[in-house]
Amino acid sequence: MKRVEIGIFGRMNAGKSTLMNLLTQQETSIVDPTPGTTADHKITLFELHGIGPCKIFDTPGIDEETILGQKKRKKVIQTLRECDLAIITTPSNIADFSVEEELISLAQSIQKTYILVHNIFDSTPQHSIKFKEVDTSIIKEANLSEENSREAILPFIKKYITKTKEHSLLPFIKKDHSYVLIIPMDEETPEKRLLRPQSMAVEEITRNWAYSITYRMDLKKARAGNIEEKRRFDNLLNHIPFLDAVITDSQAMDIVSRWTPKQVQLTTFSIMMIQHGTQRLSKFYQGVNTLTTLKENGKILICEACNHSRIQEDIGTVQIPNILKKRYPNITIDHSFGREFEDKNLQEYDLIIHCGGCMISAQKLTQRVVNLEVHHIPITNYGIFLSWIQGQEVLERVVKPWI
Ligand code: SF4
Repeated sequence: MKRVEIGIFGRMNAGKSTLMNLLTQQETSIVDPTPGTTADHKITLFELHGIGPCKIFDTPGIDEETILGQKKRKKVIQTLRECDLAIITTPSNIADFSVEEELISLAQSIQKTYILVHNIFDSTPQHSIKFKEVDTSIIKEANLSEENSREAILPFIKKYITKTKEHSLLPFIKKDHSYVLIIPMDEETPEKRLLRPQSMAVEEITRNWAYSITYRMDLKKARAGNIEEKRRFDNLLNHIPFLDAVITDSQAMDIVSRWTPKQVQLTTFSIMMIQHGTQRLSKFYQGVNTLTTLKENGKILICEACNHSRIQEDIGTVQIPNILKKRYPNITIDHSFGREFEDKNLQEYDLIIHCGGCMISAQKLTQRVVNLEVHHIPITNYGIFLSWIQGQEVLERVVKPWI
């Protein structure tokens, strides 16, 4: 489920946990005057009337100077990058606003919507908050320990939440048309369920009054030139009324691109996921062309957004590296799994090849792409890469449904 992500940031003892509890009307976070009480992020899911499902993060103070504090700070900054709205809380009884200034300038540098909640612990603030001089429209003053401040703060927060438009997963679906989903089901396929992109596609097609047909392809037989396997596929396609598109697991592109008639649209689940999550398919398309000018000793990072169990012919750790090494024997290939991406020195790489990112939020996936854009580091993904390998014609074909 897509949720609006709201992060609460600030120095230690600024009232972040109090604000979290006030908004969620629960004792989600421990409130105590001891500095550093919030040891790690607290996350609460709640429904904000007029906005919908939200995920709210209470973060530790970024001014904790211990080694542990530095680690927490890194995570806090990452959360600020990824959230949809940053609420920076600040106490009134301070004279040095350097912590708040740092948070504000970071939010501004990445064009993040932020608001400042000025926590008036008592009715006689010792210092007038200097940000008032900058932009009064983004500041709310409130005594967060007073219950009725919720009513004042909520509309203020809502005002600055820009709801991102919910994009269709498969915008090309036509009512009463058929869509074949190629699902090879190899050793890595979990039992009793489809993978998330596959079940999302089935749901989207059905919701749009169209027909989804799942097809298990035996890739080993297909690659071995088994005539019966080809006949099975042809037989299916010949009996489907109003066949509009085939959506395949990227790793089957070598077969599916040849077997699917030219008049039928073709794309992949991983292309569907990155377009849905980031709306930046063109970046991934441009990124793959970096390979045409890749240096002999170039460096590529293959990223998987989750840590799934990897068996035998895993696409990210075996199949794609084998293809790359065959074409570019002297390049270096590194991997990052899950959160490791955030710790990588991305500027070392000539190209990032990312998975479909189905296990991370759209905000997190988009933030990864935006961060790479800022540093001019090309990115592509599994589906685009495995299509490009089959030739320019196949690459053009798989992006066409999205143009
Ligand atoms: S997040 Fe990436 S690696 Fe993990 S299951 Fe989804 S597409 Fe595969």
